[in-house]
Amino acid sequence: MSPDDLLFGDETGPQLERPSKTAVPWPILVVDDDEQVHAMTRVLLNDFEFDGRHFAVISAFSAAEARAILAQRSDVPVVLLDVVMETQDAGLRLVHYIRRDLGNRHIRIILRTGQPGQAPEREAIVAYDINDYKSKAELTAQKLFTSLVGAVRGWCDLVTIETLNQSLERRVAERTAELERQTAVADEQRRFIENLVELMPSPVWYRDAAGRYALCNRAFRELFPNADDGSDWTFDHQTTDRQAIDGTESGQVPAGMDTVSFETSVEGEGGDRRELLVIKRPLATPGGEAAGVIGIATDITERRRMEHELHRLATTDPLSGAYNRRHILDLLERLLSGQGLAPDSRQDGGAACLVMLDIDHFKRINDELGHAAGDVAIRRAVEEIRSHLRATDHIGRIGGEEFAILLPGTSHADGAVIAERLRDGLARLTITLADGRHFRLTGSFGLTQLRPPGDSVESVLGRADQALYRAKALGRNRVEAT
Ligand code: GH3
Ligand code: MG
Ligand code: MG
Repeated sequence: MSPDDLLFGDETGPQLERPSKTAVPWPILVVDDDEQVHAMTRVLLNDFEFDGRHFAVISAFSAAEARAILAQRSDVPVVLLDVVMETQDAGLRLVHYIRRDLGNRHIRIILRTGQPGQAPEREAIVAYDINDYKSKAELTAQKLFTSLVGAVRGWCDLVTIETLNQSLERRVAERTAELERQTAVADEQRRFIENLVELMPSPVWYRDAAGRYALCNRAFRELFPNADDGSDWTFDHQTTDRQAIDGTESGQVPAGMDTVSFETSVEGEGGDRRELLVIKRPLATPGGEAAGVIGIATDITERRRMEHELHRLATTDPLSGAYNRRHILDLLERLLSGQGLAPDSRQDGGAACLVMLDIDHFKRINDELGHAAGDVAIRRAVEEIRSHLRATDHIGRIGGEEFAILLPGTSHADGAVIAERLRDGLARLTITLADGRHFRLTGSFGLTQLRPPGDSVESVLGRADQALYRAKALGRNRVEAT
């Protein structure tokens, strides 16, 4: 069965799916100065359909008329074009206009000519992108149908490709714009972080896997002005967690290693020591390989100084400079419970003694020389006692003119020698007041040895008081022991 049969077959012929009347027909532009060609084409195309659509002939009787039509619409897939019309080459000029001036590369152009002699040169077919050439004598329904279907298909393919291209280009453009936007955001974030780090008052640095200080901020450079010489940044090597740091330096992040922090001190500009709290953390690549270590140091010099000052105020008697009652009793308690008083003191172990001192007839000093003279006497007495003590001994004011002296690492016999030395020192002391008046004083001493375990602060104080009472009773200015 041929398309001609389809076209001209009777109604009882093969049942074809009829295109719906609403489907828009393919507009086929016929350009020819011969009325008959239009009429014939119309007849031939009458029952054609392709892809569910009929064909509709648009007629132009000259190249000029065709130009006007094509300039208006881009939905024409095929033009059936005569060569000789108003001029010998009017058809070819129209092709030129379509391709060059309109830039329409999609429309399929089929040349039709009455005489074989009017066939376009091969060069013209190539140059003008002519898609087919038919002699009018060949125009049977079957041939026209074959040509048209091929041409419409070609046009559809080109339009599809063009549409795909456009959507691809649009997506590329959108993706590019999105990437640019992301880059701009990342740039902004990077600038924010860079500026923030630079402004931070704490030294911040990044040490790469090769051990080089690759990044650091202003505070870091101020702390280490000779920033080219990494060897000066000793604090980075003094760490309580050497293993962790060495691990990162060797290029491996040790399993489970996260943040390390430690306190250290460095010599700041002008030679003063700065106390630093250093926090470091390994920086790994997304692949888990060590990329280096980032660190931040907080200057805690002032905080430490204030802590020391607070501790001093909380533990010291303001008048005498000796420890206050609470602190000296704390120390006694610690000694009794076996805790050392100083981490580096080897004298803490073993025997220890407590000496109670009460200044003799202190009331008389107050009464005869004034309360201020009494204050001076208390201060000078403490100074005198201190001058006979070791760094590991402690003196605290228990109350009024009564003092407790703690002697760690001291036997009973040694304690008696020391107490006698203290008594003698006080007795030899002459206190001179600002107005030139001067006086002397003596003290009574009660010595006891600590008896751990089982001994208590109350027991120790009780025994020392007993001995002191005896010293008073036996005439003062003397040492008694229990
Ligand atoms: P004794 O030899 O028996 O110890 O006689 P004493 O006079 O030293 O003892 P007493 O307890 O009778 O008097 C102590 C005095 O110390 C009474 C009190 O006013 C005085 N005193 C206590 N604390 C201070 C102080 O901080 N400054 C001065 N100036 N006097 C003080
Ligand atoms: Mg007294
Ligand atoms: Mg007293």
